[in-house]
Amino acid sequence: MVVRMRSTRSHTRNRRSHHKLMEPRFSICAKCGAKHIRHVACLSCGTYRERMVLDVAKKAIKKERKAKKRETEVK
Ligand SMILES: [Zn+2]
Repeated sequence: MVVRMRSTRSHTRNRRSHHKLMEPRFSICAKCGAKHIRHVACLSCGTYRERMVLDVAKKAIKKERKAKKRETEVK
């Protein structure tokens, strides 16, 4: 590497100043009013832009079953 091309501490830090993580952005669900991640379906009622996209009841049953299974495996 030629001395001319050396990246100084200042150059490195300047470049890395853009590397920080962004805080997640939240929206209020139009149907149930809960907070949810932007551009992602609401997990409490299963809708996206007032359209049903997730079967929340089915998911809850599945989660419960999984938790029960895990409990029996531990004991
Ligand atoms: Zn909702």
